[in-house]
Amino acid sequence: MRKKNVPFGFEEGDQRITIVLKHRLRDKCASSLNKQARAVNFVWNYCNEAQKHAFEKRWAWKDKWLSTGALEALTARSSKELGLQGHTIQKICDQYVRSRKQHKRRWLRFRGRKSLGWVPFSNDQVTFDGEAFTFNGVRYEPMHLREGIFYPASGMSGSFNQDSRGRWYINITVDVKVAAEAPVTRVGIDLGLKSLATLSDGREIEAPQFYRKNELALATAQRARKTPKKIRAIHAKAANRRQDFLHKEAAKIAKEYGLIVVGDVSPSKLAKTTMAKSVLDAGWAGFKGMLSYKALMRGGMCLEVNEAYSTQVCSACGAFSGPKGLKDLGIREWSCSECETVHRWDVNSAGVILRCGLATLAGGTHA
Ligand SMILES: [Zn+2]
Repeated sequence: MRKKNVPFGFEEGDQRITIVLKHRLRDKCASSLNKQARAVNFVWNYCNEAQKHAFEKRWAWKDKWLSTGALEALTARSSKELGLQGHTIQKICDQYVRSRKQHKRRWLRFRGRKSLGWVPFSNDQVTFDGEAFTFNGVRYEPMHLREGIFYPASGMSGSFNQDSRGRWYINITVDVKVAAEAPVTRVGIDLGLKSLATLSDGREIEAPQFYRKNELALATAQRARKTPKKIRAIHAKAANRRQDFLHKEAAKIAKEYGLIVVGDVSPSKLAKTTMAKSVLDAGWAGFKGMLSYKALMRGGMCLEVNEAYSTQVCSACGAFSGPKGLKDLGIREWSCSECETVHRWDVNSAGVILRCGLATLAGGTHA
């Protein structure tokens, strides 16, 4: 057994950051989770019945609204029979009360066969040995382990969740080991519409067109009158591929660059486009989040700056010499009237974003 304060792969004095991970679990883990999910539903429905009872026959209870504590008292000592952890039962009671308040309902829907499986846990009941998570006496192997060393963050909670295809995932907050030294390189990133991103080094990352391909597949499936299950599967597959792609690209950038500066993607940029699907495709927000924690894991840093003037400023000399106005946005190249540098506008934009980031940092040190 591992000592509690020496997590896997960590040494004393290692810096850590806390992030939330979602890992798909191998299908062989499903049976014990399916069983626990049924027990979770049982507890949930019991809480629901108790709440109904409390509301309708108030004479038997002090309150018409049962608190988490009251539900915990009612479900106490049932964990062994149900095959659930005591903590899991507490989390169900807690979530039941939260959901009821949030939806402003007297009681909630019954959890049955159609409800997606859910098994909440307390992180302190989960261990990680470098390959798999152990919870309630069972090992759960993730399908793809992300790079880096991590360990369930103490004092937090998480859950196992099932998707509409019956696959299980673990959602867990983990401490990630931060690399001591980052590469001294730096890059600016212009998040785009046509391509996912343009880097200030001139590289372009093409946006995955999974949605478009997905749409074709969906259209075909609908014409062929495929079942909703099949259609859900097409959606889920596209979402997974997209996530996977974004993770890989973010990891590459974080590996290479110690300082990453990203534009904040002004709403005006979004307003100027009708390509809502491409925006979804590119998944900017998710991508920024990935860049940010992957940079931290490698000892680097990711900054977000206002990109309002990034298309109009020259990245070489800082002059306001770029194309102005909307119609000029179609121009791919322009040359600076001050320093005569020829720019590709998206690469220039990324360069300006990097300049802004460096200025922010410099401003921070001599202020
Ligand atoms: Zn210039």
